[in-house]
Amino acid sequence: MGYPASESNKDRSNAAATNEELLTKFERVTRALRTLSAGNHTLLHASQEQELLYDMCQVIVEKGDYRTAAVAYAEHDEDKSIHLMVSIGADKDFIEALHYTWADTEMGRTAAATAIRTGQPCVGRHILTDPVYATPAYAPLRENALKSGFAAVSAFPLRVDGEVLGALVMGAIESDAFDEEEVKLLSELADDLAYGIANLRMRIKHQEAEATIARLAYYDPLTELPNRTFLLERLQEAIHTAKQQHRALALLHLNIGRFREINQILGYRAGDQLLQQLAQRLTKILKESDILARVGENEFALLLPRGGADYAIQVAQQMVRALHDPVEVAGLMVDSRASIGIALYPGHATEADILLRRANVATHYASPARGGYAFYTGGQEQECTRRLSLMGDLRQAIEQNELLLYCQPKVDIASRRVCGAEALVRWQHPVHGMLPTMEFIKLAEHAGLITPLTNWMLDAAFSQSYVWNEAGLERPLSVNLSAHDLYHPLLVDRIQGLFSTWGIRPEFIQFELTESTLMEDPMGALETLTKLKKIGTRLFIDDFGTGYSSLSYLQRLPVDSIKIDQSFVMPMVVSNDSAVIVRSAIELGHNLDLEVVAEGVDNQAVWDSLATLRCDVAQGYLVSMPMPVEQFSNWESEWVGMSAHAG
Ligand code: C2E
Ligand code: MG
Ligand code: MG
Repeated sequence: MGYPASESNKDRSNAAATNEELLTKFERVTRALRTLSAGNHTLLHASQEQELLYDMCQVIVEKGDYRTAAVAYAEHDEDKSIHLMVSIGADKDFIEALHYTWADTEMGRTAAATAIRTGQPCVGRHILTDPVYATPAYAPLRENALKSGFAAVSAFPLRVDGEVLGALVMGAIESDAFDEEEVKLLSELADDLAYGIANLRMRIKHQEAEATIARLAYYDPLTELPNRTFLLERLQEAIHTAKQQHRALALLHLNIGRFREINQILGYRAGDQLLQQLAQRLTKILKESDILARVGENEFALLLPRGGADYAIQVAQQMVRALHDPVEVAGLMVDSRASIGIALYPGHATEADILLRRANVATHYASPARGGYAFYTGGQEQECTRRLSLMGDLRQAIEQNELLLYCQPKVDIASRRVCGAEALVRWQHPVHGMLPTMEFIKLAEHAGLITPLTNWMLDAAFSQSYVWNEAGLERPLSVNLSAHDLYHPLLVDRIQGLFSTWGIRPEFIQFELTESTLMEDPMGALETLTKLKKIGTRLFIDDFGTGYSSLSYLQRLPVDSIKIDQSFVMPMVVSNDSAVIVRSAIELGHNLDLEVVAEGVDNQAVWDSLATLRCDVAQGYLVSMPMPVEQFSNWESEWVGMSAHAG
């Protein structure tokens, strides 16, 4: 029975061979499966791309018993170079130095290049025997393979978002490694790896998007400083900690003056530049625990989590010094003028938003004379409440004719002749007495009451001018207009109506507009001034020198006169800087054919100096304090008498 020996031996040896093959195959497949499962584990745990690539190659070599494993990425540069991200078991630098590419050239025949280019696995290349590697270009690779003891290479494309990103490459010792089953599993592994890469990249994109959202919610894009929301959150936390540790903390609020002016005159870009530069300067003086935030258009706040009053003063002084030097914006040197308000926990408030509000209130009391900073005092908020109730009172005062018309004479310097008077409003409050004019004018401007106030002044000035005319006193009276008036569509009609109503000649009512008013909207101002000029009235630029009008703009304005601001005139005999400004303003005015008035002439030395500089007109306490209009003609008689005497 049985088969002939030779046959049966053959069969057996065949069967043994098949068994051996099966075993090898089995080993290979289990090896690939092991690799696959370890690979999946890696996928789940990696948090960075490079880490993922490294771990995966490590798994392939360790669990899969491959000789080498590498990940190559395809660069989209001119040479279509291949970048070895990771290489385990083969010298990365050595291979990279060979400059293989994934281009369809002789240097682009490696397994990795083929997988990248074709998008298909390139399997079981025998480095030592495959004709592809027979050319001299691949001699180093062949030598290296011989040295490192691997024979076969396979590469699997890594496809991310439909594009081949690179290839997963592995080398095996056996030259016949990589059978069909194994290749299938390894392909799967490469796909898993590609999925892992895509996933990580997506996660990073999400994290970036989340970070951007957080940045937008908590940071100011212009200065890159934290914003108000961020500050308030941190302030609340800092208050909590300070409370637990029985410590004080300080909050500094900083307002940048002249910001609107700079925005309007030099443009928003200049305003932005100013803020950025100031933010940079402030950042330099910060300690690590301090938080500087931009809390409003031109407002910053600085939280000092550990600091009482003394420390807050030190920091405020540092800030004032840091902002002292002018800032260059749009090619000009600009003074920024900051005022700092300080509020302390727990003395001034125990809640974040109240502390911030109180620090802000205090900024209004910071003046250069007081070092540029001020502490919150309980009275300040009451002061704000007082301002609110004053607004109500002011409305009533205007309606019930409780305002008073004062005037201050203007005198021709050369001849000492009275050449007019400025109409100035006064408010005698029934409880608070005579209120500072600047204070309630500002209040009126904020409370939307400036139009009724100006209307009241116009009525009062026209009727006074009529009275003077009737009495044969032909003195022009000049009325101050606010920015809001200038852009009021009915202003010119109203003024024209008053001239007709009272039958007053245009030269007897004049108008003063501050330089900064004109600069708020130069084109709009030009339009209104042109209309007023058509009526035939005389126009003055008030507080000249405090705005930033350019010569070219001034030349286009239909004005007759400039009034040099008293802040330059008053100190002109003691300060060389002021003297220079006054002298050049007079020269500039005269060159433009404008009359020049000096405000704030309060002593003889100033008068004499103005006379030498050929300034045309003086206004100030030396001539007369502002007086109720009814007293004007008596005053003038006295002045004439005195002048005759002096002459
Ligand atoms: P202004 O138009 O520049 O008026 C001159 C101010 O300087 C007046 O202050 C005047 O009293 C003051 N002054 C005059 N000579 C001297 C001096 O020798 N020394 C000092 N230290 N001060 C002097 P006042 O009346 O308090 O007015 C302040 C500002 O309020 C005015 O500045 C003007 O801008 C505004 N204002 C006054 N009346 C009105 C008004 O009816 N309408 C508007 N829109 N603004 C007004
Ligand atoms: Mg004025
Ligand atoms: Mg003035």
